[in-house]
Amino acid sequence: MVEKVEVFLESEHTRTTNAKRMMLAFVMHQIGSAGFMEKPVPQDPGTDGAIIKTTRALICTSDSHTVHGAIGERHDLTLGHEAVGIVYKLGSNVNGLREGDRVAVNAITPCYKCDNCLRGFTSQCTEMLGGWKFANIKDGVFAEYFHVNDAQANLAQIPKSVPDDSAVYTCDMMSTGFIGAEHANIPLGGSVAIFAQGPVGLMATVGARLLGAGLIIAVESVPKRQELAKHFGADVIVDFKKQDAVQSILDMTNDQGVDSAIEALGAQPTLEACIRVTRAGGTISNVGYHGQGDYLQIPRLAWGVGMGDKTIRTGLCPGGKERMQRLLRLIENGRVDPTPLTTHRFRFSELEKAFRMMETKEDGIIKPLILF
Ligand SMILES: [Zn+2]
Ligand SMILES: [Zn+2]
Repeated sequence: MVEKVEVFLESEHTRTTNAKRMMLAFVMHQIGSAGFMEKPVPQDPGTDGAIIKTTRALICTSDSHTVHGAIGERHDLTLGHEAVGIVYKLGSNVNGLREGDRVAVNAITPCYKCDNCLRGFTSQCTEMLGGWKFANIKDGVFAEYFHVNDAQANLAQIPKSVPDDSAVYTCDMMSTGFIGAEHANIPLGGSVAIFAQGPVGLMATVGARLLGAGLIIAVESVPKRQELAKHFGADVIVDFKKQDAVQSILDMTNDQGVDSAIEALGAQPTLEACIRVTRAGGTISNVGYHGQGDYLQIPRLAWGVGMGDKTIRTGLCPGGKERMQRLLRLIENGRVDPTPLTTHRFRFSELEKAFRMMETKEDGIIKPLILF
């Protein structure tokens, strides 16, 4: 017993005398290069912020986009924006939470004070896409600890019955996929085509089902993703490698087209197809990350030469405690189980391998779960 106390005291001593306690972080060194490095454990939450000890994280395709330069050069910026954890330190102004609480934080962490936030466009906090702070303008979540701004508005307690392995899907995949469906303005019993069934597309399929779509058409060619699309509520799968996706969808809808189309890939051909398959007065909802090129083209005639009453909506993963609580409630009460998206599991120390696999999409990888 005495020995233990001494060891404890010694480690406390080491901690306090070392100016900086270090941790491991997985960073973007520069465009085209990512890897591990040591960084100091963040110690100061600031008056409104929090420091979270990471327990689970997910790698996102947009982490690869970032490393390949989609948002420009970054130096030794910690990657990752999908994580849950335990409150390690809280700012003095943060009410309603305690150190030790199990919390989820969305990938998008708005300030809830600026003009755009007050106008209701929190993902565009301060400026376009400005709600996206992790691994963009501040260190992300692929570290043993990470900092959260405006913690009272951004941290949501995870209900007891919801495991971290499920809760981590609220950070981006569920919020992004569901906003794809919410923005698609699907009439009750209406028809919707969802282009691509990656993790976001699959969650858009779930969202469309929850919102009462009468016909869900999922466009996807990868067998494992087709299988998951059916599991998550798609009525029909269109394999664009075996059939013309646009023509098939028009055939299925008496040449009228669908009420709503969701772009969940981020590419010219799928955006274009969304416009072609949507009926007059319909809505095209984009959640795809268009990571390449300077322009996207709209098919003029299918757009009713600009007068077809077709709406194109865009949005970025809504964040904030209130939305996170609603997403967590859907898991808590069994409306959604996102865990079939987890195809692989890795220790944090194996993140480099997981990151590589996510880039090549080898071994049918959909979402790799990272355990801390
Ligand atoms: Zn993500
Ligand atoms: Zn703001």
